[in-house]
Amino acid sequence: MSSLVVDIDSKVYGNGTCAISGLHITAKQGEFVAIVGPSGTGKTTLLNIIAGIDKQFIGNMKFGESNTNKNISFMFQDSRLLPWLSVQKNIEIVLDRHDRNSVEKQSRIAELLQKVGLEGIAKSYPNQLSGGMKRRVSMVRAFVNQPQLLLMDEPFQSLDAPTAFELRTMLLELWQETKCTVILVTHSLREALTMADRVVFLSNCPANVILDYDIELPRPRQLEDNTVTLLHTNLLMQYPQILSGSLFSDSLLDKETEQSE
Ligand code: ADP
Repeated sequence: MSSLVVDIDSKVYGNGTCAISGLHITAKQGEFVAIVGPSGTGKTTLLNIIAGIDKQFIGNMKFGESNTNKNISFMFQDSRLLPWLSVQKNIEIVLDRHDRNSVEKQSRIAELLQKVGLEGIAKSYPNQLSGGMKRRVSMVRAFVNQPQLLLMDEPFQSLDAPTAFELRTMLLELWQETKCTVILVTHSLREALTMADRVVFLSNCPANVILDYDIELPRPRQLEDNTVTLLHTNLLMQYPQILSGSLFSDSLLDKETEQSE
């Protein structure tokens, strides 16, 4: 089982900023985990550590068995397509050199492009595509290597609502088909509640987990579902400061301080 176990005692940048302290997160194989936390708390730092891009931290990070091959894909806020390469070449860039011309991979690319509604655009260049189309290409690129782990950093930000809806639906279909483990960083609690199996709430910087919440709503779910709205409201009523990185409201903190004095 390729489960993910992240134990970060501390992550301190060269300038002395401590971005993460005492953070523990796990994800089971195929689980969809959303990470929500205030801006500047350490979410991108965490994704970089999970991706293995940043190894300068104290702690442990384990995904699956150490002797097996692991495919990890990343999707970012922007599509990160190279403007001088065609759609096809932008996707092939993440393949091993010897895989690029394989019949299997070529048909996988064609199949994925068709799944995201982009058949016939393989020869186009990024500047000929809309913002939503570019993100769909980056989604194809994320899935072409059959990832076991998909890391997403606000991938649906700054898209109009119908485009974001389409992309979320496509992403969920590809996730259910490939059964990869997903870690989605989002600032939208509603998006997290619509898409994920669990939401992990982070504290203010340095980041640690303040609440690990199982979403028990049945799928499929939509952003505007009453059940999602109700859960969203209840969570914010129970923890009014949670999106600011605290489990306690100021008044509760005041009471606690008064009692301890
Ligand atoms: P988030 O993704 O939650 O907005 P980040 O992980 O980008 O937060 O940043 C967490 C903290 O680490 C912030 O205080 C940020 O200023 C700091 N930080 C991020 N990258 C660097 C870096 N390369 N050097 C120094 N400090 C950094």
